[in-house]
Amino acid sequence: MMAHLQFPLTGISSLALHSAGHDNAEHAHLTPIFATSTFTFDTAREGMERFAGEDKSRLYGRWGNPTFTAAEKTIAALEAFGLTGDDGLPLQLKALLHASGQAALTTLFMSNLKAGDAVLSHYALYGGTHELFLKVLAEAGIETIIADLRDLNKMEDAIKKNPAIKLVHIETPANPTIQCIDIAAVTIMAKLYGLLVSVDNTFATPYLQQPFKYGVDFVCHSTTKFLNGHGTSIGGVLMGKNIELMNTKVWKWHILLGGNSNPFDAFLLMNGLKTLELRMDRHCSNAVEVANYLNAHTAVSHVNYAGLATHPDHAVAIKQMKHTGALMSFEVKGGIEAGIRFIDKLQLCVKAVSLGTVDTLVSHPASMSHKGLSKEERERFGITDGLIRFSTGIENIADILTDLEQALK
Ligand SMILES: *Cc1c(COP(=O)(O)O)cnc(C)c1O
Repeated sequence: MMAHLQFPLTGISSLALHSAGHDNAEHAHLTPIFATSTFTFDTAREGMERFAGEDKSRLYGRWGNPTFTAAEKTIAALEAFGLTGDDGLPLQLKALLHASGQAALTTLFMSNLKAGDAVLSHYALYGGTHELFLKVLAEAGIETIIADLRDLNKMEDAIKKNPAIKLVHIETPANPTIQCIDIAAVTIMAKLYGLLVSVDNTFATPYLQQPFKYGVDFVCHSTTKFLNGHGTSIGGVLMGKNIELMNTKVWKWHILLGGNSNPFDAFLLMNGLKTLELRMDRHCSNAVEVANYLNAHTAVSHVNYAGLATHPDHAVAIKQMKHTGALMSFEVKGGIEAGIRFIDKLQLCVKAVSLGTVDTLVSHPASMSHKGLSKEERERFGITDGLIRFSTGIENIADILTDLEQALK
């Protein structure tokens, strides 16, 4: 990668623009969309050699594709930026591009856990992850233990009580209360007991938070969100620092489970990644203004935003994140009816599930993303009926505030 560069790059925009290189036979400036299901060999011997070799990206489409490789290399470069591995050398990561965040999580869990094992996780996970644990993994004989991982005593108790735990999976910041978990502290505890640690870094992106810095084993993203950034495709990525493990068991499970990406979505993802830093700076500065505005508004009863000093995880967030991000949730006074009335009155902010797109997205977790959970489970996660989730976009801030003002009237 970038073998011609004689100096280190100083930021993630340069990396996002140049990590993939221009390595294609037609000298195309951008990595082309290699819309092909398979790749040709000149001779039987060449086919044999490619099967034996490490480069699986020019063999068969489910196993890889040069357009996937460009996106994988770029995301791995961002996530490893400035970090060193256990050997003191620049951290090397292996990334596998998937059809969705859910597919990346499936490969992660299925390749590292088997029937009889357990995974330790926490409250307020992404709804799909929670259901994957409780519905799919449970039927495969893999148990999920949920504990408040912000409390290390509770974490240690859970580990001591459940010797079947093999993996600790955390999401920080987490949906939709913006709960944050101390990655360094959880990883130290997990390693004391020889456990693997995986982090869903979707809300933060590698620009705001790099979990590998704290010794975690895996990082995954729904690339559907900030990494693509424009809402043009569904995708996911799974990264690991144990290259040997990534190239053997994780790779095998990935291609056999069949959750591979496709070259069109990989191209859209590459395009989005180029402006990640620019977009995040704007998303974040807008979010601070929105949070302060809502926090001071008499029609709003409370705001969950990790950048507010009143948020219970504010200290953890600012310790491990470059900025507290673009996501928040809040409750308007008057419960569910007032919340629905507020959403219906919005004119600019878009009513849709998902997050991390350039435009502001507003959703109602209790009736949308977390409808799959019982009311009791939702309340345990802090998802009250009137809670509104707000993914701050990059619109001009005055227009977002005007829309909020008229909808809160
Ligand atoms: C969206 C999301 C997922 C699932 O990703 P898909 O791309 O929708 O499959 C997983 N984790 C988090 C935190 C998410 O926001």
